[in-house]
Amino acid sequence: MRCTHVDVLDSVVIGAGQAGLAASRHLLRLGVDHILLDANPGPGGAWQHRWDSLGMDDVHGVADLPDAPAPPRTAEPANRVVPAYFGSYEESFSLPVLRPVRVDRVTSEGELLRVRADAGTWWTRTLVNATGTWTRPFVPYYPGIETFAGEQFHTADYPGPEHFTGRRVLVVGGGASAVQFLGELAPVADVVWTTRREPVWRTDDFTPEVGLAAVTEVERRVRAGLPPASVVGVTGLALRPQEAEAARLGVYGRRREMFARIEPDGVRWADGSFEAVDAILWATGFRAALDHLAPLRLRSAAGGVQLVAVPGNVQGATTSAVDPRVQLVGYGPSASTVGASRAGRAAATAVRRYLSERATPGPS
Ligand code: FAD
Repeated sequence: MRCTHVDVLDSVVIGAGQAGLAASRHLLRLGVDHILLDANPGPGGAWQHRWDSLGMDDVHGVADLPDAPAPPRTAEPANRVVPAYFGSYEESFSLPVLRPVRVDRVTSEGELLRVRADAGTWWTRTLVNATGTWTRPFVPYYPGIETFAGEQFHTADYPGPEHFTGRRVLVVGGGASAVQFLGELAPVADVVWTTRREPVWRTDDFTPEVGLAAVTEVERRVRAGLPPASVVGVTGLALRPQEAEAARLGVYGRRREMFARIEPDGVRWADGSFEAVDAILWATGFRAALDHLAPLRLRSAAGGVQLVAVPGNVQGATTSAVDPRVQLVGYGPSASTVGASRAGRAAATAVRRYLSERATPGPS
């Protein structure tokens, strides 16, 4: 049954991934009356949708949620371990999660924000948006893409290596996911790798200083209102022991420049030669899932959502420069699990401050 909630909340958090849970935990700690709306059927954010062959020891690492150590690195699938971790977190801290609730539109109504979802409408003084990127897979357009007769997948629906056994697969993309897919596909399938730009391999050791420099660069972009670059794109790629077999087979050294067009049975390279492939796997990334915020006009002319800097804390930039009622967590410099946890705290603090500054003084 649909219902409209006439009470005004102090805050609404949208999305129960790492960023939304961290924000909700800190809002509770600060005594901010709020709810957490999540479109997924169960706990786990995007992790519940990751492919089965992605073990906890394959991922870069899942950072701790506030006050609860993250699960250890084992061979167990991340799509089971992280949802269990998030589920017990929601329960043990009694986070006010409502699901499945998909928000489709947030509008400004005077001093308040109106949050419209498939399950109802809520009114709130502030908003913490934590909707991640998983629901917005990005596939670039290439001429002829609609004519391809084989199968096409994106990272978001990668069916695992077994599906491609004995077939010829074109992997597109120069990020960490493409490198991992090649690692598990090369031993079982005939793979071709293509990227738009020369991949940037990490040559130095990945020190905390290198990581901070990468995040700082992304923060500079969002402060300027530019679309955020991927943090991995800035840090460079590294081969792990899991990719040793594919490296031995030479797959990383045979990378090709992007094709010119797609044809029913394969792709045509820029030099006019043809490559027959059975499947194309687009490891071409994601975009921020912010469509429901469009009525708030947060995007700058440069195409990104401009956030206000917090001196000395690059992952503390969460407040919209256009509308101080709105926090974005898991966006730009905080689009990693460690960034999301930190941004959750920064956003809750900013919400608390906003509410205190506007609180109606009581009778003296
Ligand atoms: P999500 O986990 O995506 O959660 C967003 C939630 O919002 C979801 O539950 C979704 O249902 C909900 N939602 C979305 N839209 C709506 C809506 N309109 N209404 C209601 N709810 C909505 N980072 C790391 O730090 N370490 C890693 O090892 C790592 N591995 C990665 C592997 C892959 C393949 C990918 C794609 C990313 C990886 N990242 C990793 C990045 C990392 O996943 C994210 O930065 C972080 O987990 C995202 O958390 P989040 O809370 O922002 O989003």
